Amino acid sequence: MPKEDTKEQSFDVAVIGGGPAGMMSALIAAENGSKVILLEKNKQLGKKLLLTGGGRCNITNAEFNLRKLVENYSKGGEFLFHAFSVFGPEKTINFFNKLGIETKIEKNNRVFPVDNDAREVLEVFEKHLKKNKVEVLFNSEVKDIVCAKNNIKKIVLQNGEVTAKKYIICTGGKSYSLTGSDGAIYKLVEKLGHTIVPPTPALVPISLKDEWAKKMQGISLNNLKIIVIQNNKKQFSEQGEILFTHFGITGPAILNISGKVGDLLGKGEVTIVFDLFPDLNYQEVLKELEDILVRYPNRTVKNILSFLVPEGLAEVLCDMAQVKREKIANNMSKIERASVAKTLKNIEATVSGLLGWDLAHVTMGGVSLKEIDHKTMKSKIIGNLYFAGEIIDIDGKSGGFNLQSCWSTGYLAGKSATIF
Ligand SMILES: Cc1cc2nc3c(=O)[nH]c(=O)nc-3n(C[C@H](O)[C@H](O)[C@H](O)COP(=O)(O)OP(=O)(O)OC[C@H]3O[C@@H](n4cnc5c(N)ncnc54)[C@H](O)[C@@H]3O)c2cc1C
Repeated sequence: MPKEDTKEQSFDVAVIGGGPAGMMSALIAAENGSKVILLEKNKQLGKKLLLTGGGRCNITNAEFNLRKLVENYSKGGEFLFHAFSVFGPEKTINFFNKLGIETKIEKNNRVFPVDNDAREVLEVFEKHLKKNKVEVLFNSEVKDIVCAKNNIKKIVLQNGEVTAKKYIICTGGKSYSLTGSDGAIYKLVEKLGHTIVPPTPALVPISLKDEWAKKMQGISLNNLKIIVIQNNKKQFSEQGEILFTHFGITGPAILNISGKVGDLLGKGEVTIVFDLFPDLNYQEVLKELEDILVRYPNRTVKNILSFLVPEGLAEVLCDMAQVKREKIANNMSKIERASVAKTLKNIEATVSGLLGWDLAHVTMGGVSLKEIDHKTMKSKIIGNLYFAGEIIDIDGKSGGFNLQSCWSTGYLAGKSATIF
């Protein structure tokens, strides 16, 4: 499929960037009868898509109330309202179901393929792009965009040029640059007269100072409460799922608080308290613990705690509560029981910082919303240019909201660019 030189060819629509937004734009434009070329600088499509949802691809969020849906975007929610009304989560789910991907709805309305495999999503696009005769050009980084009289005349690749009637830029943001989206295109877009709202990393994992956290690598905790503290005062809290990794903590609940934690770090030290049983008070946790102790009086404390938390955490908890791991449950003093119950409701950690661009899930900033028509995704500056996906100054929470904005804007751009 890769071609060396495309000088002689002309297309109806040229889509730049083969991520979720670009694949959707290209497919919709082709389904609507356009001759489409899709340019991707990598040697494969959807490199970032394959990493989404921990490889499971959280395709969208089943929030069908559009007013509520837009509240999940720190920027761009209102801008997206029309795109969602044309192609929102419901249509997205139907779209994937029709292409053969069965979906399921998990906690917090997160939608995943039943097979838990992001590759399936990519393969379905590859198949249908081929079926709709979209020409896919790999190893094709757009190096320049040539414009005259507010219209793009051609795009220049390292190995040729492409001309088309319409162009859709879908090159993503600048996070996780190993996947291809490095933000290099911003300067070309600025050269066209567009404003780039300065990009900053968003949905970022957090690193911790505490040694115990390093021993927790690979452990995930569901439904715990995270209380964020500064100057001995609770600032805010969040409930959800977290994952300990070699670099610190991540997972939906952490990603969603990272922006606010970043703001607090600018003012001083930030402490996080983990409450492992947010739905029980201290007395209830103590009772749970004591019930297990009664049932298994001859087991070790570490073993008893493994009934309540993952094994790796049980060891850490014993140390924090200052109870010997191998102590027999029956021999635990009242003070030791209380100490364990208290620790289950109150594990403290100190934030050392936010991880940067390399691990940020999305980019805050990008092409200014003021310069894009929200009904068509058409540039208000260049006559034959459209944008879709994360290159636009849109960013959502963790939970399928970012891919949804790619599907919606991609759909709209692909459709609008086809109308001649
Ligand atoms: C680890 C991780 C997990 C995530 N999980 C989820 C999730 O489960 N659900 C969710 O909703 N969101 C998730 N996201 C966010 C989501 O992946 C992005 O918002 C989405 O991929 C953006 O799509 P896009 O098409 O705009 O850009 P990208 O996916 O970044 O694709 C842009 C493409 O353009 C290409 N490109 C860039 N510059 C050029 C150029 N000059 N010429 C040619 N090609 C170029 C790149 O190589 C790339 O393939 C996750 C992100 C990360 C990093």
